[in-house]
Amino acid sequence: MKCRSCGRKNAWQSEFCSGCGKPLEAQVEPPAPTAPGTGAESWRWNIIWLLVALAVVALLCIYAFQPSGKFKGAPSPAPPVTQQP
Ligand SMILES: [Zn+2]
Repeated sequence: MKCRSCGRKNAWQSEFCSGCGKPLEAQVEPPAPTAPGTGAESWRWNIIWLLVALAVVALLCIYAFQPSGKFKGAPSPAPPVTQQP
C-alpha cells in the first residue's frame, strides 16, 4: 500500500510506513459506513427502519384492499368485517 503522508510504497501487510513511520491502516482503511451497535445511534436507526417497514406494509394493505386498485395479485380480498348490533 502507498503511504499518504510521504507517498512511499510499503508492503501490503506492513503496519507502519518505512519512510515516515506513520501507521498505514489507520490512514488507508476508510471508516465503516454503518457500524452496528455503536451505542446511541443504533436504536435510532432501528426505529427508522421499523417505521419504514410499517409504512411499506401499510401501503401494501391499502393496495390489496382497494376494489379497483393496481394490486391484482391478491387472491380474494375479503370484505372488511363490520359487526354492528
Ligand atoms: Zn510514509
